[in-house]
Amino acid sequence: RIEKLKELKDLPAVTTDGKQSMLVANIGTPKDVEGALKNGAEGIGLFRTEFLYMNRNDFPSEEEQFEAYKYVAEKMNGKPVTIRTLDIGGDKKLPYLNMPDEMNPFLGYRAIRLCLDEKQMFKTQLRALLRASAYGNILIMYPMISSVVEVRKANAILNEVKEELDAKGIKYDKNIKVGIMVEIPSAAVTADILAKEVDFFSIGTNDLCQYTLAVDRMNERIKDYYKPFNPAILRLIKNVIDASHKEGIFTAMCGEMAGDPLTTVILLGLGLDEFSMSASSIPNIKNIIRNVSYEKAKEFTEMVLNMSTPDEIEDASRKILYDII
Ligand code: PEP
Ligand code: MG
Repeated sequence: RIEKLKELKDLPAVTTDGKQSMLVANIGTPKDVEGALKNGAEGIGLFRTEFLYMNRNDFPSEEEQFEAYKYVAEKMNGKPVTIRTLDIGGDKKLPYLNMPDEMNPFLGYRAIRLCLDEKQMFKTQLRALLRASAYGNILIMYPMISSVVEVRKANAILNEVKEELDAKGIKYDKNIKVGIMVEIPSAAVTADILAKEVDFFSIGTNDLCQYTLAVDRMNERIKDYYKPFNPAILRLIKNVIDASHKEGIFTAMCGEMAGDPLTTVILLGLGLDEFSMSASSIPNIKNIIRNVSYEKAKEFTEMVLNMSTPDEIEDASRKILYDII
């Protein structure tokens, strides 16, 4: 069976009736690129950049960041590499940044909120990202967007950096795509507004489930409430994908749900364009996609969207998965 999955490496993730999806990898350091390529990733859907900032006593330099981003872009050889700007805060603190203790860190000073405040730090990362974009196919992604206001503020800073690079004649990809993580319910609900101002969406189901269901994603005791199959989550995902397609942009998913075989048919049926997951899950998900028709997936999805409980939807998903593979 493992052998069979290996044979899939260079085959497209296409349904029996010809609908193709992108299967890409989540990575946490540049070294992870190797595993991504080995498993047939068609790109990087989420490059978490926290590793550059953690376990040290001072900010990473622009040069250090530039080298890391450039390395991944070059290794991926023209395939898309979506790099997320710093998502620190929540449970992750930096000793060299003034981050006060908070009552609810996951509802607090985190990710884009912190970056918009720490403008020099943010500009340094954006400059490194833009410079690296001259060496491959880089996309920029902002985390923890709650409304179009943060998108505009972040883009204003990005434009400042672009102008500074222009003035110095430093090259970068002038058409670089800028997208957002959809991981806060308010962003999912207002996806139609956001879709007009970004180039793509990537649904972060880890946080989207946590915030929509009010379930701490790390708290074992309440883990039974943490259900990606909750109808609320499926409706939000549908809303995001439909809104993106109306504006002609694509929707990816980079939370754990994207690599869960039980959800593949639903996500396919909802029209998800790109699945981003840990590299080792890619062959398995590809195998499922290649053995189902888009028509059947859409029919199934329509059916489960009418169900009332996460368990009903999960049971139905288990059954259809057995039928497929
Ligand atoms: C998510 O929230 O689904 C996500 C991919 O981001 P992280 O797990 O890094 O918060
Ligand atoms: Mg997240």
